[in-house]
Amino acid sequence: MKQQITVLGATGSIGSSTMDVIARHPDRYEVFALSAGSRRDALLALCRQFTPRVAVLAREEDAAWLSERLREEGLDTEARSGVEALCDIARAPEVDAVMAAIVGAAGLVPTLAAVRAGKRILLANKEALVMSGALFMAEVRRYGATLLPIDSEHNAIYQCLPAHHREGLAPLGVRQLLLTASGGPFRGLVREDLAQVTPEQACAHPNWSMGRKISVDSATLMNKGLELIEACWLFNASVDQVQVVVHPQSVIHSMVAYTDGSVLAQLGNPDMRTPIAYGLAWPERVDAGVGPLDLFEIGRLDFERPDTERFPCLALAASAMREGGTAPAVLNAANEVAVDAFLNGRLSFLGISDLVARVLATGGFQPADALDVIVEEDRRARALAETLLQQHYS
Ligand code: NAD
Ligand code: MG
Repeated sequence: MKQQITVLGATGSIGSSTMDVIARHPDRYEVFALSAGSRRDALLALCRQFTPRVAVLAREEDAAWLSERLREEGLDTEARSGVEALCDIARAPEVDAVMAAIVGAAGLVPTLAAVRAGKRILLANKEALVMSGALFMAEVRRYGATLLPIDSEHNAIYQCLPAHHREGLAPLGVRQLLLTASGGPFRGLVREDLAQVTPEQACAHPNWSMGRKISVDSATLMNKGLELIEACWLFNASVDQVQVVVHPQSVIHSMVAYTDGSVLAQLGNPDMRTPIAYGLAWPERVDAGVGPLDLFEIGRLDFERPDTERFPCLALAASAMREGGTAPAVLNAANEVAVDAFLNGRLSFLGISDLVARVLATGGFQPADALDVIVEEDRRARALAETLLQQHYS
């Protein structure tokens, strides 16, 4: 039987790579539903190619437009809008697997809906897990969902751990998780140069082609900070059990160090179709359309310590995770506001970590065990970040 797939965020960078892998295996996968934020033309094109049962856009007027086009073209895809529709396509009984590839906090509620329906979840949307870690993982266990990390580092760690690793790292003989980082486009720059960098420079990543938000996060190292938190939740690790290793070639996607001295690594070309194909085919393997790794071409692999003085976001994320409760959700919300302000020319590059630090310093975190508390803290932190942005940076 073919697997029925829902792709949340089908028009993005991860979404497009997912559609590419699905298209290579029409014998294995059928698209149940697709979603996009505002790119209705791109979603229409995907509807023509994959004829899903449902297609969801954020706004009602875009869904009405899509519905009209679908009818004109004689396609019987149903066009819907809004968060409730996203939750419906994530939890529909027909669906086997859900690719969670919406960017940012907007992905939290639909991703949790998939968890609560016990689906196989291919998790790219790291912000959802960062915001709600304890609740998210508890719900995964409670509803028997299968959680497969798509973030390349976490996918690598997952592949380097024995199967069925639910009880934490100690019984597996794991000493440390080695989370690799490319260092981003500004790895070599001094602080004075960092003050001047533009959104265009930040979005030109040396190894990966990604959406704009995660590109900026890679440049500030907040992406690695979010990934540190993501790793703690996924693998039941403490902050101290995760070591970030700068590895500029992005060939080793991460490693696991064991107590007997063994270090296992997963390597591959930097192409997200590899972890996506892993998640889709798990526990089998399929062609991802990614060429073989040419070690002779690569020649060498380098490693460095991360510099948390030039890139404070990594340390901010570690301290938010140590703080616990809603601190990571507040970190994430402040970062989303800061990155958006940077991309729109309202904040300098160095202002991003500065603004996140200011918001975190106000404290007042709460236990993060209920969705409404997390959503409310996200809203509060965004409002606070916006106020501080206007006070200090305009
Ligand atoms: P992107 O900006 O290219 O795509 C985001 C998708 O989400 C688009 O389909 C967009 O239409 C949709 N979207 C945005 N806002 C929305 C909203 N309010 N409501 C509904 N839909 C909305 O981003 P991306 O690079 O594909 O990243 C997606 C997620 O995957 C992020 O959480 C990112 O951190 C993670 N991720 C990405 C990569 C990568 O290589 N791009 C790697 C690892 C993890
Ligand atoms: Mg990653």
